[in-house]
Amino acid sequence: MTPQLPSIIIAIDGYSSSGKSSMAKVLARRIGYRYIDSGAMYRAVTLYAMRNGMILADGKVDEPALVAALPQINIDFNVDNFNQRTLLNGEDVEDEIRQLGVSSNVSPVAAIPAVRHALVAMQQKMGESKEIVMDGRDIGTTVFPDAEMKVFVNASAETRARRRYIELTEKGVETTYEAVLENVVGRDYIDENRAESPLRRADDAVDLDNSNMTIEEQNEWLYNLYNSIINKLA
Ligand code: C5P
Repeated sequence: MTPQLPSIIIAIDGYSSSGKSSMAKVLARRIGYRYIDSGAMYRAVTLYAMRNGMILADGKVDEPALVAALPQINIDFNVDNFNQRTLLNGEDVEDEIRQLGVSSNVSPVAAIPAVRHALVAMQQKMGESKEIVMDGRDIGTTVFPDAEMKVFVNASAETRARRRYIELTEKGVETTYEAVLENVVGRDYIDENRAESPLRRADDAVDLDNSNMTIEEQNEWLYNLYNSIINKLA
């Protein structure tokens, strides 16, 4: 009989477009864990705000209106052939939340404390039975401070913007490299400087700078780290 492996929580945090979601997804599939992209949840709330006139002409968020609407915003996930599809009040919004319009508005929405409290509570519920890989900005610090495995991913802003630009143009989204770089740098700034659970490396996180790594190398690095942690716990 093969011994039962310990069930753990894996928190993968890092900067915008650092490739953390792709790595997290591959690892989750490989080890049979559930994968949750917490950024998709902030993006879905942002889309709701945009559709309901809660993003004002100057780009500011109508915070009281959005906070009042939070109980009516239901976010869920469908898994389609191992790919997570985000549902906003039952509607599949996965493609829409990846558009640059949502990317431009998401960081101010994610800085609102009531939005964070609501989403963090949902995320903690998802992790109750462990066996989960979650990626985001505050997973190892606020959502799961006791996660057994924490990774903090980084790469230069130019590398991240270049990757994101290629990804978006391959999907048919019309944009420029400069617009993507500006978005990446702008989001990093707001994410790092907000008062409520800012983007910060957890003290016990393992660092990964993947600027000069292939996707395969990153995936192997993450899988090896998982194995070394599991072997220590077993
Ligand atoms: O991961 P992604 O880039 O899709 O996240 C979109 C935005 O959501 C981030 O720029 C950040 O403002 C916010 N976010 C957050 N906390 C998380 C995940 C994402 O504030 N745990």
